[in-house]
Amino acid sequence: MSWDFETEPEFQEKLDWMREFVREEIYPLETLDIDYLQFRELIKPLQQEVKDRELWGVHLSPEQGGAGYGQVKLGLMHEILGASELAPPVFGVHAPDTGNSELIAVAGDEEQVEKWGKPVLNGELWSAYSMTEEGRGSDPTMLQTSAVLDGDEWVVNGVKFCVGNANRSDFHIVLCRTEDDEGTAKHRRHSMIIVPTDTEGVINRQIGLMHDPNSEGLVHTHCEVTYDNVRVPAENLLGGRGEAFVLAQKRLGPGRIHHCMRWMGVSRRALDALCERAVSKSVHGGLLADKEMVQDWIATSAAEIEAARLLTLQAAWKIDQVGASGARQEIAMIKYHGAKVMHDVLDRAIQIHGALGYSTDMPLEEAYRWSRAARLYDGPDEVHKVSVARRILKNYEPRDKPSDHIPTRRQAAMEKWGPVIERLETSSV
Ligand SMILES: Cc1cc2nc3c(=O)[nH]c(=O)nc-3n(C[C@H](O)[C@H](O)[C@H](O)COP(=O)(O)OP(=O)(O)OC[C@H]3O[C@@H](n4cnc5c(N)ncnc54)[C@H](O)[C@@H]3O)c2cc1C
Repeated sequence: MSWDFETEPEFQEKLDWMREFVREEIYPLETLDIDYLQFRELIKPLQQEVKDRELWGVHLSPEQGGAGYGQVKLGLMHEILGASELAPPVFGVHAPDTGNSELIAVAGDEEQVEKWGKPVLNGELWSAYSMTEEGRGSDPTMLQTSAVLDGDEWVVNGVKFCVGNANRSDFHIVLCRTEDDEGTAKHRRHSMIIVPTDTEGVINRQIGLMHDPNSEGLVHTHCEVTYDNVRVPAENLLGGRGEAFVLAQKRLGPGRIHHCMRWMGVSRRALDALCERAVSKSVHGGLLADKEMVQDWIATSAAEIEAARLLTLQAAWKIDQVGASGARQEIAMIKYHGAKVMHDVLDRAIQIHGALGYSTDMPLEEAYRWSRAARLYDGPDEVHKVSVARRILKNYEPRDKPSDHIPTRRQAAMEKWGPVIERLETSSV
């Protein structure tokens, strides 16, 4: 197996333009005191510039209305966009809309694609992905929110937790239990249903999060959502009955590549800040850059970022070659490894800036709080680690003695070589 993450010059030019554009046009937006409606208005000319360069919403295949770049190229793009939380919406590739438009493109019928999918892709509609129920997110087979068919309508009841943009979106894709337990495998009991946010019985309670205690983020809010006898047309079922987990897998695989490459963008920006500080500041008679402990931070961070980045690009490459299900192990590994690398690099970047790093005068503290969430969303690290460990362990069998037990190996070797050694000894005498 071999891979090569060099990209052709024309695409490299696009990446170079994006890097410059994010730094020059999007970083300044981070410093403004505006609300999310002003933000959506302000970015319209920037979105147009992105569209003019044919870099808008590129995550879909050409048949689905995207550029068909494949996951390696998308990964390289997301690494650049990740450096600012405000960049993905300017490029039409922000979560959860990217995953949702992909889901609708893959599972939706023609009408759903026209009514929900394309407007999300064009940035005209905003969407939410409503799956988690408090305490059941890491084992979705336990999710209880139900949808029952009553005539030509689904009736949805249940409470979801931590749903991104539930109150700012036009519709939710809700993961509901639709099938009876008896006679149905536990991975076949849930379906996805599109629920317009303004349907009677949808109650959004905005919640604060560690990185956004007032839930006033320009890109995201988060809500607890109660669905109280919510009625939607039967045709709002997305994909087939009982297909929710098959579809979720399709949605989450490539999404994790994008997340992880965005985390690498955050990590790289933090390392830049760390290095800039190191060469700028002197303490105890010398530059921080000359202190061996700081050099250790820089060298360790650089190696960690490079390793996590290559692991992610390898996972992206494998998705491009064999599809997301064939790359499950790599996708799980980057989820927990990438999240930890981002957290640790940010921690060192804050440390070298002292109180300034801990203050809101720098973007590091907010990114650090956000990095804590990365260990939870898209499945907690532990769940991914369990799945990776299980796959690895499948290759091993229990043995009475370790296969590297030297006395046992010596006995086997002597059975093979003993007579030869004996002959050699006799002839040399
Ligand atoms: C910033 C943020 C944004 C989010 N956005 C959305 C969204 O838009 N839509 C949505 O539906 N959800 C969203 N979530 C929810 C997220 O998907 C869930 O938090 C996650 O799946 C975990 O589910 P849970 O919170 O119910 O934790 P639980 O299922 O209660 O798990 C709690 C802990 O148990 C431990 N654990 C679980 N399983 C194992 C295991 N097998 N082995 C060892 N330990 C284990 C882990 O430490 C885990 O963190 C978001 C979460 C965050 C933090």
